[in-house]
Amino acid sequence: MNVLVEDGRIAKITQDKIIPFDFKINGSGKFLTPGLMDSHAHVSSIPGMGFGVEPISVKNPKIAAAYFAQQPRSFLYYGVTQLLDPNPGLNFKHFTSAVDHPDYFRCEVITSKETFPYVEKKDDQSKSMFTYLVDEHALEHEANSVESVVQKIYKSGASCIKIYFENGYGNASQWPILSPKTLQRIKVSAGKVNLPILAHANALDMQQLALAADVDVIAHGMWNWGEYARERVISKEISQVLDHIVDEKVGYMPTQRVIAGLGEVMLADIVDSTEFLSITPQSLLDWYKTPQAQWFIDELRIGFDGMPDKAISDAFLYGRIGKGNIVINYLNKSKHPLLLASDFPGSPSFANQPGLTTFQEMKAMADAGLSLEEVLAAATINNAKQFKIDNDYGTVEVGKMANLLLLKKNPLISIESWNSIDTIILRGRPIKRDTLAVKKEQVIVE
Ligand SMILES: [Zn+2]
Repeated sequence: MNVLVEDGRIAKITQDKIIPFDFKINGSGKFLTPGLMDSHAHVSSIPGMGFGVEPISVKNPKIAAAYFAQQPRSFLYYGVTQLLDPNPGLNFKHFTSAVDHPDYFRCEVITSKETFPYVEKKDDQSKSMFTYLVDEHALEHEANSVESVVQKIYKSGASCIKIYFENGYGNASQWPILSPKTLQRIKVSAGKVNLPILAHANALDMQQLALAADVDVIAHGMWNWGEYARERVISKEISQVLDHIVDEKVGYMPTQRVIAGLGEVMLADIVDSTEFLSITPQSLLDWYKTPQAQWFIDELRIGFDGMPDKAISDAFLYGRIGKGNIVINYLNKSKHPLLLASDFPGSPSFANQPGLTTFQEMKAMADAGLSLEEVLAAATINNAKQFKIDNDYGTVEVGKMANLLLLKKNPLISIESWNSIDTIILRGRPIKRDTLAVKKEQVIVE
């Protein structure tokens, strides 16, 4: 089969020879697939440091710069050619201005000064990430009303709106959530300009609230089963939530790497992972071994009341991942089209690195019980359809964007084949995988 690409799009797919052509890639014996879409990745965040505007990143400007220069290339290295960032803050220009970067889509966050995540940030720099703060009491015509803010987001070119259903992490709790009235106003205003609503919600009660607010996508797996936390099978209350998701065709992002990242950061040797060497600048890897870089690990230890690290790790890697897997399986058995969405980096854990996390999320979906065909769909057409960009992306079809991967191994035989990329084709332009790896000259000595 021959594929002709013209002006960045697929122009012809045929058994016949195509002549003339300017440039030819020999794909014989290889596998051509659509490029992958990760629909939940935070490009303004540095693994281990948090968002680039937060104090710890600001204190390490050279490391941050080396990281941000490499990051778009690392996503491409793992075949991510489209990326949706649900919370870019002010800091995504490094990504969109890079010579080679995945096609970029973003949601903008609506929050208020009383609710998470704004309420969790302690300093002005971190708070500056939230450009779309609403005053829940403001009337429709006022500048910071729900209606005005939704209009601003729409005009900014965003693809969606993200709202948080989060009342606290670990022992901390009882942050207020946007009121039902505000949620309803967001839904109505977003509907008028056709912006889908993504909900951050990972607990049973929070997902119930998100569904009551009629959101379009649940942006996290359900790891926190509330009063059913000690049970191993799905309770009636949980199955009602999941059935609602299936019946109402609500998009679902399992984001298992959030939990895996928390479990793996507790393992002392994670920083020596050989995979990191291709995608993470050496200066950042070196920083991970310094005492300052241990702050998040210390925070997790406090949250677990001094339990041994291995036990904390197991609680995430077996306990909560297991719960997420049961939910994934339930939805998948109901033929619900799941979405590849890693939530890179998911937390300030440095176990999650750009691109690699997306690949690991695909492995997590396969581990949870999806077939390799279902993982392929989750990574390509399901995301394209969910965000209504399937005219341009999601399959190898005439007329679509030539964002493609040439694999050495068949991805329908082994999930590991997604790590056998020969060439990434970005809008028709071939890029050899090796050329995207971390360059030696990017190593900056502090
Ligand atoms: Zn996220």
